[in-house]
Amino acid sequence: MTKIGLEIHCQLTKLESKLFCSCKADYRSFEPNDNICPICIGLPGSLPILNQKAVEKAAMISMALGCKVPQKIGFFRKNYFYPDLPKSFQITQYNAYGPTSIGYDGKVLIEDREIKIRRIQLEEDPGRLVYEGSSEKTQITLVDYNRAGTPLVEIVTEPDFETPKQVRLFLNLLADLVENLGVSDPSLEGALRVDGNISIDKGNRVEIKNVASFRDIEKALHFEITRQQSLAERNIPIPAETRHWDEARKITISARTKEEEQDYRYFPEADIPTILIDKTVIERLGKNMPESIISKKERYKKYGIPLQVAEVLSSDKFYSDLFEQAHNEKNAKEIANLITTDLKGFADTKEQREQLKLTPTHLSDLADAIMNNKITRNSGKIALQEIVKTGKPLSEIISSLDLGHVDDQSSLSKVIDDIFTEEQKAVDEAKNNPDTINYLVGKVMKKTKGKANPTLTLDLIKKRLDAQ
Ligand SMILES: [Zn+2]
Repeated sequence: MTKIGLEIHCQLTKLESKLFCSCKADYRSFEPNDNICPICIGLPGSLPILNQKAVEKAAMISMALGCKVPQKIGFFRKNYFYPDLPKSFQITQYNAYGPTSIGYDGKVLIEDREIKIRRIQLEEDPGRLVYEGSSEKTQITLVDYNRAGTPLVEIVTEPDFETPKQVRLFLNLLADLVENLGVSDPSLEGALRVDGNISIDKGNRVEIKNVASFRDIEKALHFEITRQQSLAERNIPIPAETRHWDEARKITISARTKEEEQDYRYFPEADIPTILIDKTVIERLGKNMPESIISKKERYKKYGIPLQVAEVLSSDKFYSDLFEQAHNEKNAKEIANLITTDLKGFADTKEQREQLKLTPTHLSDLADAIMNNKITRNSGKIALQEIVKTGKPLSEIISSLDLGHVDDQSSLSKVIDDIFTEEQKAVDEAKNNPDTINYLVGKVMKKTKGKANPTLTLDLIKKRLDAQ
């Protein structure tokens, strides 16, 4: 059996300042080493001051993932030597002496499978190493400390995933969730980073690091499953190790033997006292939290929206915001359908979304026009194409593109006359087999470019057949 666990690092990009100093949390716009101070580069004698907002945002993530938030949180030093870590230790959280990290014991349902969250911790991001050329061949490595001290939330799951697909679904949900909560912008480079660990058939655990994108983590996991299975089939032991994802070659390569926890010599961070989290703070945060994706999905299902559509709609903030503004009780199903099938092609990427000229009013007008039989669903698609580009009102588009229903009897009867002459065989068949009537309706639709009123067309054809 395959077991996959994840460690996800999520930067709190929406904060003003870093975790322990007043340098900007948004380090991306600075020249190298221009967003630093004695605290975040760890000069001797400097003292960290904890960012209260970071604690609150991390608590919100914990609550949204069903975690418990303890009444006391504490910080620890994780010691290791690496050039991107100026203090030679990272201030993080550690649960070996009782749960003092910002969240623990959470769970999320993915494909009806329970994924347990072991813990959520608040910590500082290290700096960044910049290589000249490729990292293997370079002679020069540069260090940029602008990122050092940026607030980071680490989410550690139990190895509860069985397939790479479940991992992808979870990561999509998480990306939407942090965006929904207004704590992070997952589209920023490096804002959401994932390491995976994977083992098959109770074998050794292999860690995969260095995966740049969500799409690649799925590929890397698939590769690892195949690699480990082929070793196991030949009775070759699978060593416990860390492997890096080689993006160019699409394989994982052995990186180093894994550090053991004791190598980090964790000890309490004496410069930050234990922080008490008052119940009233948790209550206030709970009240101000946006509705969770899970409860949104349940609410959408009550409108009669199918589960899969409700899932797509609730887990994407852009779509659900549009839906919330456009729907009423009557048109909810139609609006959900328009967003998740017809609009999706025009609103897949961030750039596309920024250029959309569509408003919630457009969507509700469109749904009403389709439901009241003013235009066919097919014409609705054409109208939507025009709306997203021009932003013109629906009524104007319907008349300028001549999309309105053909529903005057005489012009429809003329079209049906033609079809009855052209499709003699189908007409004979339809007399005995009502199922083939749809074929004739289809022909009428084609001839009218999808504009014929379907109910009226069917009615007229039936009458015609009865009369023959
Ligand atoms: Zn600083």
